[in-house]
Amino acid sequence: DLGEHDGYAPLYSDFDSFYIRRLQHRIRDCFSRPTVGVPGRYITLINRSSNDYNNTFTEDGTTTSCLNLSSYNYLGFAQSVGQCTDAAEDYINEYGISSGASRATTGTLDAHVLCEDVVADFVGKESSMLFSMGYGTNASIFSSLVDKNCLVISDELNHASIRFGSRLSGAVIKIFKHNDMHDLEKLLREQISQGQPRTHRPWKKILLVVEGLYSMEGTMTNLPRLVELRKKYKFYLFVDEAHSVGAMGPRGRGVCDYFSIDTSNVDILMGTLTKSFGATGGFVAADKAIIDRIRLTNMGSNYAEAMSPPVLGQIFSSLKTITGEINPGEGDERLQRLAFNSRYLRLGLKRLGFIVYGIDDSPIIPLLLYQPSKMPAFSRLMLEKKIAVVVVGYPATPLTSSRVRFCLSSSLTKADLDELLAATNEIGDKICLKYGSGIASDS
Ligand code: PMP
Repeated sequence: DLGEHDGYAPLYSDFDSFYIRRLQHRIRDCFSRPTVGVPGRYITLINRSSNDYNNTFTEDGTTTSCLNLSSYNYLGFAQSVGQCTDAAEDYINEYGISSGASRATTGTLDAHVLCEDVVADFVGKESSMLFSMGYGTNASIFSSLVDKNCLVISDELNHASIRFGSRLSGAVIKIFKHNDMHDLEKLLREQISQGQPRTHRPWKKILLVVEGLYSMEGTMTNLPRLVELRKKYKFYLFVDEAHSVGAMGPRGRGVCDYFSIDTSNVDILMGTLTKSFGATGGFVAADKAIIDRIRLTNMGSNYAEAMSPPVLGQIFSSLKTITGEINPGEGDERLQRLAFNSRYLRLGLKRLGFIVYGIDDSPIIPLLLYQPSKMPAFSRLMLEKKIAVVVVGYPATPLTSSRVRFCLSSSLTKADLDELLAATNEIGDKICLKYGSGIASDS
């Protein structure tokens, strides 16, 4: 039975090519396994063997604990020991698990309101709003900001949630080459004059959308130049700080902190609470009038359950640790450890002859594997060494620039990184990954 139903093609028939399905299967067999326990410095994978072509697996009840380079846990707050979990537990005891309604009805707890103030204060904006899901934040807020008479200008590598949300708004979308400020300015000039007298602006509003730190590339947006262009061309600037808030800048406040740029230069700061804070959900921060408008009109919060109370406890706990309000000194130590780990690993990989993408300070380090066939090979060999990594390839990357992304955390020690470097070196030699090895090339 191929799944055909009354002459119709099966629902999954267009899903993927045979080639991609086979590749997915081989990767899932290896790294995309169910896990148990807390994904902190170590992650525990359930062992399983592949039943090959039928896409099923057999588990034998055993597990493998691996050094974890695969989770977004920049500041180590995912760990189960310590006051973060205690805070979540306190919130369960006080509020339960569910607030039982959407924010627009009776689902707003005093803790939601307080948490929004704390988040706004942390990122340096007047007001903020929480969402239960980071993806859902982007998916729903664009419709509150722009409509079909507006233009969204988007970096070509923006996250799927941004692409989805901006399409849903009905705005016209134009793409510029990743981080290419010349291409962006050319597009701005075209869109603002568009054959009209120079003074005529054909769009009701222009919203420019970028990410702070690009997690597939390890690159950072050119915020200083964007701020200049914003003044010149008078667009609104939206920055998705999913990977930069909590992780970048001397005080962990994100890209503005990193570049020492006042947050008034960015109109909308969006972020997730999943990566640096060890929680779940997303937020959007801006002037109060903008947040009030989003609160009133967006579907993702008005028609959805409010953020779960223990999550609020976890956010408070992580944020207050970063600012030093609780456990003075610990937040700075975590930030410094993350910054050290990021540079140490990147430099080590470069010295060994690997091609890595991105800026020196990026806590995500993409290492080029090139061919898709090297993805399962690399993750399988890493797993043999009890190291968990994430490999990514087409369609998330171009076909010939498959990569492994090392996700750093302040919870990793120098000895952990030395172990990782030794393993990568050995595997790199085995499957010809280093620059000049004949197969690898920096194209
Ligand atoms: N924005 C960006 C840039 C992301 O990378 C992600 C997820 N990795 C999201 C939004 C969605 O966030 P979440 O995983 O918290 O739903």
